[in-house]
Amino acid sequence: MNPQIPLPAGWDLLSRLRFPQWIVHLSEEALDLLFPPRCAGCGRPGGSWCPACAAAISPLVPPVCSLCGIPWSRGERCPRCEADPLRLDGVRSCYIYSGPIRRALHRLKFHGRYRLAQALAAWMTEGWARFAMEADLLVPVPASSARQRLRGYNQAAMLAQALAERVTIPFCPRALHRVRPTPSQVGLTQSARRENVRGAFVADPQWVRGKRVVVVDDVCTSGATLEACAAALYQAGAQSVWGFTLARVILKGR
Ligand SMILES: [Zn+2]
Ligand SMILES: [Zn+2]
Repeated sequence: MNPQIPLPAGWDLLSRLRFPQWIVHLSEEALDLLFPPRCAGCGRPGGSWCPACAAAISPLVPPVCSLCGIPWSRGERCPRCEADPLRLDGVRSCYIYSGPIRRALHRLKFHGRYRLAQALAAWMTEGWARFAMEADLLVPVPASSARQRLRGYNQAAMLAQALAERVTIPFCPRALHRVRPTPSQVGLTQSARRENVRGAFVADPQWVRGKRVVVVDDVCTSGATLEACAAALYQAGAQSVWGFTLARVILKGR
């Protein structure tokens, strides 16, 4: 396996310019002097998380449904997965999508800040260990809109790359491509969400054949996007496909 998989073209300014790592770190320290770090949750000056935001974050901890990863203690699978299983090896998410995590992801989506991605990836690294995740390859969900692609960064790729560095697993943004745009999933039922993203992705066998792939995204709602990514990866010969997200929306009635 080649850990030196090239970075995607331009997901943040420092990566885009492809400076050596020591220059990147020096630049970050210079940035810290010019723009002191702020809390990732509320933006107050200080460390990467202020005590109030750190205390308000809700980790998603075992026991969870063995398939979809929502909190669940009455048996192996939650009722939804018993009735209609998610079509991949499994999904694990690190935090409930609420409070400071929700605000931080909103800021990451619209501002794409490098240090914010680093702060969030630190929380993801804890979740990675909590669920004893294993992988040969970390693959981000490809950018979801033309506007996002125009911005030049993809929050899933920012998180996946920062996580990959921390858990020392190759980051491979070239493995998965979006082949058609997908309308927003907001307000759709589970079956409509599946239909909305069906066939939206293709995977490249040269990167994924025989590999244990983990697909990284910022937030998981129904799992339909991760399922569509997994369908493409299985078709390209992946050995297993898990989804791993920073946050999880807990839907009502589950
Ligand atoms: Zn805060
Ligand atoms: Zn489940």
